[in-house]
Amino acid sequence: MPAAYKIHEHTFDMVVVGAGGAGLRATFGLAQKGLRTACITKVFPTRSHTVAAQGGVAAALANMGEDDWRYHFFDTVKGSDWLGDQDAIEYMCKEAIPAIVELEHYGVPFSRTEDGRIYQRPFGGMTTRFGEGPPAQRTCAAADRTGHAILHTLYQQSLAHDAQFFIEFFALDLIMDAEGACRGVLALELATGELHLFKAQGTVLATGGYGRAYFSATSAHTCTGDGGGMALRAGLALQDMEFVQFHPTGIYGAGCLITEGVRGEGGILRNSNGERFMERYAPSVKDLAPRDMVSRAMTIEIREGRGVGEHKDHILLDLTHLGPEVIHEKLPGIAESARIFAGVDVEKQPIPVLPTVHYNMGGIPTNYHGEVVQLKNGNPDEVVPGLYAIGEAACVSVHGANRLGSNSLLDLVVFGRAVANRAAETIKPNGKQAKLASDACDAALARLDKLRNANGGTPTAAIRDRMQRTMQADAAVFRTGETLADGVRKIREIHASFADVRVSDRSLVWNSDLVETYELANLLGQALATIVSAENRTESRGAHAREDYPERDDVNWLKHTLCWVDEAGNTRIDYRPVHMYTLTNDVDVIPPKKRVY
Ligand SMILES: Cc1cc2nc3c(=O)[nH]c(=O)nc-3n(C[C@H](O)[C@H](O)[C@H](O)COP(=O)(O)OP(=O)(O)OC[C@H]3O[C@@H](n4cnc5c(N)ncnc54)[C@H](O)[C@@H]3O)c2cc1C
Repeated sequence: MPAAYKIHEHTFDMVVVGAGGAGLRATFGLAQKGLRTACITKVFPTRSHTVAAQGGVAAALANMGEDDWRYHFFDTVKGSDWLGDQDAIEYMCKEAIPAIVELEHYGVPFSRTEDGRIYQRPFGGMTTRFGEGPPAQRTCAAADRTGHAILHTLYQQSLAHDAQFFIEFFALDLIMDAEGACRGVLALELATGELHLFKAQGTVLATGGYGRAYFSATSAHTCTGDGGGMALRAGLALQDMEFVQFHPTGIYGAGCLITEGVRGEGGILRNSNGERFMERYAPSVKDLAPRDMVSRAMTIEIREGRGVGEHKDHILLDLTHLGPEVIHEKLPGIAESARIFAGVDVEKQPIPVLPTVHYNMGGIPTNYHGEVVQLKNGNPDEVVPGLYAIGEAACVSVHGANRLGSNSLLDLVVFGRAVANRAAETIKPNGKQAKLASDACDAALARLDKLRNANGGTPTAAIRDRMQRTMQADAAVFRTGETLADGVRKIREIHASFADVRVSDRSLVWNSDLVETYELANLLGQALATIVSAENRTESRGAHAREDYPERDDVNWLKHTLCWVDEAGNTRIDYRPVHMYTLTNDVDVIPPKKRVY
């Protein structure tokens, strides 16, 4: 061992890393099943990024018009541009209904209809009658603060159950054994700098997305993909990393989100001619087309000289016609954000907006139970013993090449619950755990020691800034072979420059310098996986729009990308088949066809 680090040891049945919507739903679900469960989180649970979710959570409750979970299934498959696994999508859309009713019973303060049912608003790509009917009102909302309402309720439920929280603990690395099973996780207690080894029969990664690999993102600064980074270091592949969602309406400059719910309530995008240009790109659903399409349309308008402002470099989101009542009742949060971050009174002026990085469709591959899977000896669905992933950190894959708005909050609760159910079936409470090898933590400790004493010439922030700017420029809404090749070259270089990182704070107490360096390392691995996978995929599908390959190519590319990145920055790519089958006969497989709205 490199230095004498004292380690506190804990033994649990299950350890959940992350206390966002996914982590909390799993945590109390596991505790409810009688499993001794720990939840470790780097931020206080209710500060997780889920708290910022605005628009809502999808479920075909049919409270406000015709709906059916099969329509939701169809929309999600089509929204994914056929890259989503149809068994998992069936599971999510069917389970959505009981999952939302359960949330209501747990106490989520949803907005209400006149007759007291959960209020539902239209969202992009959500339709009825298998795409043939009018837009569906499917997105259950608590005004425009749905994530806040859900996260607080889930935390309250967690406190009501017997789970143990380790708050402001930073997970450093997974502890894997020689057989490739996950045996727990090593974490740093931020306040004291002490180390804690959590041994468990099962470890759940619920660490959220890696939006901060980019310069302008709607996600919190804590969204650094730590779970994905740990998985890569454990030698596991990440899946479909080329698919990064740009949300059409980030506030110009600030990057804060203006929910799609604004367009759901009737808001309209306009170019410099005042034209409602989405009518030309998606004649039937217009401003409520899925996010990838709206982001591309906005980018084209700006490129063709119809952007607004001094530099003609953004677009306007107009809700002046909605009236004060709708704004006060349904969209109070965005009125405030627009006032603070854009200096705009939404009742009188449009909001300046620009497509902004928002969500990672890719992540740690899992099956619909939340068990992590890997390609091994020709089996694409080999379960990694003891390891689970859920929420934005995971790639189930229900979102495929493009996530529909309001399907992520749904994914959190459905698969958070699924993990609890699966663990209850497969794990014995208080079950005996085999002894860990005496060197089980050595690699993780050596890495800690190295980073703590990193004495190079480049501060963490400088490397991060270069990475973020490169990703923003070269892995953007539109991509070409040339920009991607250039981006791959630069990100490889930036990844290599991490060898020269300097950490100035040598202490272990509240060492934010060290934590940010760990986070940067996690981001770098995922930035590399993203841009390498993007260069490799020579077609356009969902959020991955190649100008040199404008068409979807199902013959060659109807498959998930797997990408491995080792610590030296070497990458390897392979594939898993897309699940073109359903779980039951309740719904038919949707064969690929052209994706138009
Ligand atoms: C502004 C915004 C608005 C959104 N609105 C919607 C919406 O209306 N509807 C919708 O469906 N989706 C929405 N999304 C997407 C959705 O909110 C996110 O995908 C989702 O909340 C992610 O939840 P999560 O539980 O996976 O992770 P998070 O909520 O990001 O939580 C991650 C957790 O992991 C912990 N963690 C991370 N790394 C470590 C580590 N190393 N050690 C210990 N703990 C760690 C953190 O402390 C945190 O508790 C929105 C996203 C954003 C950014």
